[in-house]
Amino acid sequence: MIATLSAETSADLIHARLQVMLADVVPELELLIKSELAAEINRLKKAKNAVILGHNYIEPALFHTIPDYVGDSLDLSRKAAATNEKIIVFCGVRFMAETAKLLNPSKMVLIPSREAGCSLAASITAADVRELKRKFPGVPVVTYVNTYADVKAESDICCTSSNAAAVVESLGVETVIFLPDEYLAKNVARETGRHIIFPTKDPRNGSNSDLDYQMIGWPGRCEVHEKFSIADISNIRKQFPDVVILAHPECSPEVIEASDYSGSTNAMIKYVEQTKAPRYLLLTECSMGENIAAANPEKEMLRLCSVRCPHMNQITLEDTLQALLKEQYVIEIPEEIQTKASRAVERMIAIS
Ligand code: SF4
Repeated sequence: MIATLSAETSADLIHARLQVMLADVVPELELLIKSELAAEINRLKKAKNAVILGHNYIEPALFHTIPDYVGDSLDLSRKAAATNEKIIVFCGVRFMAETAKLLNPSKMVLIPSREAGCSLAASITAADVRELKRKFPGVPVVTYVNTYADVKAESDICCTSSNAAAVVESLGVETVIFLPDEYLAKNVARETGRHIIFPTKDPRNGSNSDLDYQMIGWPGRCEVHEKFSIADISNIRKQFPDVVILAHPECSPEVIEASDYSGSTNAMIKYVEQTKAPRYLLLTECSMGENIAAANPEKEMLRLCSVRCPHMNQITLEDTLQALLKEQYVIEIPEEIQTKASRAVERMIAIS
């Protein structure tokens, strides 16, 4: 998706647009300050031959002003691979900026904050993957893009929440190791009709003699999506019986089951744009709900969300301006990891 204000360098015009979109969620004084910052960033980005990529979870004033492209991980990976600009500024978390570097290594890739991590990416190390490969020799490793480059380097292929089932099916094998999101693995297992085990929890840990399961998972979780519960859904349905509930595949299988639709962030956006429900509720990162609401003013989005990703929250207009001014913080990946990890990501891009 292309953001509409990304070429705008007049703070007054940006402010006027933000007032229309965000006046009921962002205080006026903040809108004024953010408009000035956004105009300065848009001027500087042109002067420095930079492109800004923004994930769907970034805060609304940033989302609607400076990114040249906004989208989910898969979208932004494709944009990163195809960009001609000298600098890529990634307004998202570190694993996303690393993926951009993997796909376009000759570019300078910047991330505005060093603190923008991810609970899923932190849940597994390259040594963990090597140990799983030792326990299950010959079983292909599918790794969610929400991992760091050294983990991707140990994998056969990556996936995102929008193509995970297709990636698993594409391998045409009985058994896969699917890392590191426990809930996404369970949801994909259900979608593809596979059985799943978690070696760290299974009494057969270490045994590969009786593979009566077809997916081997890992107990990593997104600290945002794991918070949604069935009780949340039943309370909301009691209050708003006609609500349509959309849940991200990083939510638990029980929450997905109790929702009306499940899909990646981009799939949820399309669903809201293409359907006509009395009201919607998104079980995902809160800023995304605000971003969709601002882009679809005619749709009623319930604003009952209190779950903000603390890592995405690190990405601000102030830090993005500093990133461009000082060309910080540069993403660097050792050559050996770059070669192996980019192969896993490119393999994913080729099939989706
Ligand atoms: S929302 Fe969850 S998966 Fe996404 S960056 Fe935050 S912690 Fe990681």
